[in-house]
Amino acid sequence: MSSLYEDLGHGITRIDTGMIQPELAACYLLESDSEYALIETGTQHTVPIIMALLASRNIDPLQLRYVIPTHVHLDHAGGVGGLMQQLPNATLLIHPRGARHMIEPDKLRAGAVAVYGEQHFREIYGDIIPVAATRVREMQDAEQMKLGRRTLVFYDTPGHARHHFCVHDLQSNGIFSGDTFGLAYPVLTSDKGPFMLPTTTPVQFEPEALKHSIQRLLALKPDCFYLTHYGKVGNPQPLGQQLITQIDAYVAIAQDARQHASDADLEQAIIQRLTTYTLARARVHGCRQTDGQLQQIIAMDMRLNAQGLVVWLQTGA
Ligand SMILES: [Zn+2]
Repeated sequence: MSSLYEDLGHGITRIDTGMIQPELAACYLLESDSEYALIETGTQHTVPIIMALLASRNIDPLQLRYVIPTHVHLDHAGGVGGLMQQLPNATLLIHPRGARHMIEPDKLRAGAVAVYGEQHFREIYGDIIPVAATRVREMQDAEQMKLGRRTLVFYDTPGHARHHFCVHDLQSNGIFSGDTFGLAYPVLTSDKGPFMLPTTTPVQFEPEALKHSIQRLLALKPDCFYLTHYGKVGNPQPLGQQLITQIDAYVAIAQDARQHASDADLEQAIIQRLTTYTLARARVHGCRQTDGQLQQIIAMDMRLNAQGLVVWLQTGA
C-alpha cells in the first residue's frame, strides 16, 4: 500500500502531496547536517501534510533552508507561498523565468482559474500566495547550492516548460527531475520496470528542447531519478531512451492528426491516437490492468498531452 511518507535513504523522504489521488504527485524533503530543503511543494493543501511530517520528526521549521520547485506549474509550486509563511528562514530557489510568477502570482492564478473555474481551482489548488521578492533567489544553469554537507547542482532543462530546472543531488547521485524526465505511476510498473510517459502539457512543450534536456541529464550518469509523478526510478539510461522514442512518436502523431482532422476535431483526434499508441505500449510492457482500467489511469495525461501538442502545432511546429 502507498503511504504518505517514505524514507528513500541518503536523507531523502518522499511525501505524497495528496493532490487528487494517492501516488499522483510527490514532493521531497532533504536533510544534511540538520539543515533541510523541500523539492517541489504540491499545492496549498499540501502545506499541512508537510508541516505534520516536520512536527512528527521534531524538525524546527527554522531548520528549513530552501524551498525548491522545479518549475511554476501549480502541482509543483502551488504551495510555495503558504510554505514560505510557515518557514521563516527559507529562501525560495527558482528558475530565472519562474521567479516573477512566485512574487506576483496573479497571472498563474488567472490561468488556472480559466482552465478549471473558480470552484474547481479552489478544490484542487486552494490558493496561491505571493512570496516577498527579498526571499527569492534565481538559480542559473550549472549553479550549485550547499545544504549542510550536501551539494545540489541546478540545470536549466527547457522542453516541458521554459521555466524548468532539474536538481542533481551529488550525495545520492540522483536527479530531481520535475516533469522533464516524464511520469511513471507506480500502479503501472511491471516486471519490465516503470512505465514511462512523457508529459507535453501546455503551453511551452518543445520536443527538440525536451529531448536535448533528457540527453543532458543522462550524460550526468545519475543512478536514479526522483520523479514528481511519481517516486524514485533506477536504471535511467533505457528509461530515457523510452521517453525520447515516445516524444518522436508524439510529434508524428500530432502531425498526422493535423493532416486528417479539422481544427475543431484536432484535440480529440490527437487524444485518440495518443491513447491507442500508449495502450499498445502498455500491453507490450506487461501492465496488468485491462484496457478500460488503463484508459482511466492515463486519461488525464492523454488530454493534457494532446492539448500541449495542439498548442505546439499552432505556435512552434
Ligand atoms: Zn507536474
